[in-house]
Amino acid sequence: MSLEYLYREIIMDHYKSPKNKGLINDKDYLLVNMHNPSCGDDVTVQFKLENNVIKNIRHDGTGCSICCASASVMSETLINKEKEEALKLIQRFYDMLTDTKNDVDLIGDMIAFKGVGKFPARIRCATLAWQGIEKGLKEGE
Ligand code: ZN
Repeated sequence: MSLEYLYREIIMDHYKSPKNKGLINDKDYLLVNMHNPSCGDDVTVQFKLENNVIKNIRHDGTGCSICCASASVMSETLINKEKEEALKLIQRFYDMLTDTKNDVDLIGDMIAFKGVGKFPARIRCATLAWQGIEKGLKEGE
């Protein structure tokens, strides 16, 4: 089984059974909506910061499989991370996509999106939810 096949399976698993999907009604959560006009992806990211730690992340929206799966992986990867560590992981995710030769430190299923870097038009799909939480974390300062 090739790695590319395995990565595609991971992405499809997250697309079919997304983690932390669905928004909740809680004023303690920060809400960020992101839109990707070139593909039609629309994602809302919701998260709760407590003592500088991301206590919970929820997401919802519509989009292609890469976008929806990436939101699921983002939530799984960043929950319970300190804000600074989360921002570093977000940057690593961008680095992985923009420099396909760069073997950066990745955790969890982030690596499954490595192949997306070969398709520049899809990079925005993969990063949309990550940019959403990054924006929220930076605005929350
Ligand atoms: Zn897309």
